[in-house]
Amino acid sequence: MKLDVNTLFLITIYVEVILGLLLLFVWVQNTTITAVAWWGFAHLLRAISVVLFGLYGSVPDVVSIDISNAVLFTAFAFTWTGARMFDHLRPQPILLFGGAALWLVACRMPLVAESFNVRVLISSGIITAYTWATAYEFWRGRSEPLVSRWPAIFMLFAHGALYLLRTPFGAMLPWSPTRNDVFESVWLTVLSFEALLFTIAIAFILLAMAKERTEQRHKTAALIDPLTGIPNRRAFLEDAEAQLKRQALKPRPLAVMLLDLDNFKSVNDRFGHATGDRVLQVFAEISSRAMRRTDLFGRLGGEEFAALLCDVTRERAVAIAEEIRAGFATASSEVDGRPVVATVSIGIVVSHDAGVDLAALLAQADHALYRAKDNGRNRIEIGSIELLLERVKRITGESPLAPLGAKAATKSAA
Ligand code: GH3
Ligand code: MG
Ligand code: MG
Repeated sequence: MKLDVNTLFLITIYVEVILGLLLLFVWVQNTTITAVAWWGFAHLLRAISVVLFGLYGSVPDVVSIDISNAVLFTAFAFTWTGARMFDHLRPQPILLFGGAALWLVACRMPLVAESFNVRVLISSGIITAYTWATAYEFWRGRSEPLVSRWPAIFMLFAHGALYLLRTPFGAMLPWSPTRNDVFESVWLTVLSFEALLFTIAIAFILLAMAKERTEQRHKTAALIDPLTGIPNRRAFLEDAEAQLKRQALKPRPLAVMLLDLDNFKSVNDRFGHATGDRVLQVFAEISSRAMRRTDLFGRLGGEEFAALLCDVTRERAVAIAEEIRAGFATASSEVDGRPVVATVSIGIVVSHDAGVDLAALLAQADHALYRAKDNGRNRIEIGSIELLLERVKRITGESPLAPLGAKAATKSAA
């Protein structure tokens, strides 16, 4: 089957314009990801380039070959710049127009102007360079876990490779390099068709990347406390529940901590709300540093924090709590150049029971925290979930299941 190249060109122009406008439309709706605008303009530039190339024969070659290719290279450079912007890197103006400039200069050289193969070689090299540079930018930013990054890298790499290989392949297969039947070339059909599929695929992959990032940002914003940068109440409780479920399959001792800053109202009263906020940040920093990588830590609200430490001995849990208590007392002796001197009270509960639930643990830790406040603040008190569960068993005569433990813990804390 032979595809009519002119029809293919018309379809390509139409598709490029539609995709360009689609990307620009998405960008207008959410201007935070500037890369989307660059990618939109890249498609429009490609459309212009195909229009110019399609005029081959009816306009001077300088327009249909030299300028049309220069525009095409700039389109690829725009996609590359978009990838840089996507990963928070600055555009590189010299390289952005470098490909087009290099091409226009080369076209003035007789060797290049007269040789079809040399022109193909140069143009393929420029396109491959920009396409692989785009793939490289996405690969460099892979620490941001976007699933759509990988098909983008693959597509760009494959597209670049195809362009690079078109010179050796061209030597093996008929190129039809004579001026009159350029449009009859098998390669032109193959490449135009591939370019069309590539442009559609890459536009949707880039859109998917932008969408995935926006969704991830929203998800993170819903789970992270904006003041301290640590998980908020919802995130902490969800993660802790999930962790306890996993733990139930492979029981190891665990500890739950509740941490409440002492007389924090008076910190705000004496130093102002802004300094109070800063103190909360200092506390979150000190605590996060004291925790192990596997521990969960979050802000339950106001000046109250919680932690879940898995696979921990009672001594280790107390040591971590003590590091936080002492570290915070020292660090808060001067906040923003002011002698704040804030302290924290901590209630800990350690459990060896595999089936115990989070509500029961939190209630018991709260009980211990209450004692810490009662006994003068700036101190750590330890509760035991086993003691509580035994008490429940003695009273009810039943082995306490998790929900029963939760109820009893809430009651005894009250
Ligand atoms: P206690 O030792 O008994 O815990 O006393 P407290 O003053 O810390 O406890 P209380 O619950 O009475 O007061 C908590 C204060 O924490 C009241 C509120 O203004 C302050 N607070 C809560 N959230 C924030 C916040 O995001 N920033 C600041 N600066 N203050 C906050
Ligand atoms: Mg308090
Ligand atoms: Mg409180």
